[in-house]
Amino acid sequence: MTTLIRGGVVVGPVSAQPMDVLVDGEKVVALLAPGDASLGSDLAATATRVIDATGKYVVPGGVDCHTHMELPFGGTFASDTFETGTRAAAWGGTTTIIDFSVQKQGERVQDCLAAWHQKADGNCAIDYGFHQVIGGVDSESLKAMDELVDEGVTTFKLFMAYPGVFLSSDGQILQAMQQASHNGAMIMMHAENGSAIDVLVAQALAEGKTDPKYHSLTRPWETEAEATNRAIMLARLTGAPLYIVHMSAKQAVAVLQANKDEGWNVFGETCPQYLYLSLEDQLSQPGFEGAKWVCSTPLRAKAEHHQDELWRYLRTNDLSVVSTDHCPFCFKEQKEMGLGDFSKIPNGIGSVEHRMDLIFQGVVNGNISLERWVELTSTTPARMFGLYGRKGAVAPGFDADIVVYDPAGRTEIGLHKTHHMNMDHSAWEGFTIDGHVDTVLSRGRVIVDGNEYLGAKGDGQFLKRGLSQYLI
Ligand SMILES: [Zn+2]
Ligand SMILES: [Zn+2]
Repeated sequence: MTTLIRGGVVVGPVSAQPMDVLVDGEKVVALLAPGDASLGSDLAATATRVIDATGKYVVPGGVDCHTHMELPFGGTFASDTFETGTRAAAWGGTTTIIDFSVQKQGERVQDCLAAWHQKADGNCAIDYGFHQVIGGVDSESLKAMDELVDEGVTTFKLFMAYPGVFLSSDGQILQAMQQASHNGAMIMMHAENGSAIDVLVAQALAEGKTDPKYHSLTRPWETEAEATNRAIMLARLTGAPLYIVHMSAKQAVAVLQANKDEGWNVFGETCPQYLYLSLEDQLSQPGFEGAKWVCSTPLRAKAEHHQDELWRYLRTNDLSVVSTDHCPFCFKEQKEMGLGDFSKIPNGIGSVEHRMDLIFQGVVNGNISLERWVELTSTTPARMFGLYGRKGAVAPGFDADIVVYDPAGRTEIGLHKTHHMNMDHSAWEGFTIDGHVDTVLSRGRVIVDGNEYLGAKGDGQFLKRGLSQYLI
């Protein structure tokens, strides 16, 4: 079974060149310059399938390294299952996700990971891996980290927020980082000062400030920048690599930048919501509407000028990755749990379907280059999380996870337009993209063809990941 994708421009992190791509089975086997007859003068005649990519970009499938399918949160569950969420991802040109298995105080890490395997196994449309959240750092969970590294779960997420639920003390964080510095794992950090935030939240509620916008106003940028600095200092003490998730405050990234400049293995990601959405335009909408955009870290004030700075940090590689932090909740009954008390609104936005499009719009708008789009959404996340060689590039030997992207196409995002995520609204309603995901291949199989979905649940396989391939 061979597939020839011809006539397109193959885009990678360092080049965009006219190339034909030959796929055999699940792998890319050759890139051929136009007119190259070294494998035969008429490959199209012998290929099982020919995909015409004339005028289009041929890019590696997206790697979304931060999703939460079926996550239990605040008394409910994220509304996408592994089945619905990975299918929506495929529609949007993402062919790999890395989701978070979650352990809490008192639970056995291995049991939690087994439970996440059970949720995903046989249900995914695309390949997937896991990070492990360690919500209870103790001698047992520290030992378990070594075991998980051997099983291909090579990254461990800790929280400086959510006291009493996920928060680790500084001492616990230090211990987990020491463990990582021995077993080679990377620590991922939710960097917000949760203890300070809880005080601000209680004070706001006591003053009758209950609307969704107070979610952001009680998590000011200082709480992110402080925690970011603390996480980095603790990581420096241990030498463990550190990856800070969902960064939204320019001041926090400035701290990261200063430490990167000193040569430390510290990295950061941001998400589309922080690049496009804001406290003023979304979170402050009248009534309870703003609940749709409650996520943590929060959408920040346009007046503080974070967005342009985040784009700049993406250009300068002070931010290395764009993930989604996909964590969808329906408005009815889920977001509504926080009516009259913003602190009870489940935290999360659904974007797994739209990341490739939204960041491509950054190319159209002149924020980043075409090559940088691929690097931020596919190549670097693959390298960062030990998947490079299989994922993150259209190159011989790599899995044939390929997107044919039409820069002359158009994508109207909205609930009754493009919407395959299992939620009753879109946080991106009305956004229009000057581009379109035309065709998606996952390990050589066409799973999205124009407006048709050809994949099936269970197509996706678990990815045992290696250690980070991005360290300096
Ligand atoms: Zn988080
Ligand atoms: Zn998250």
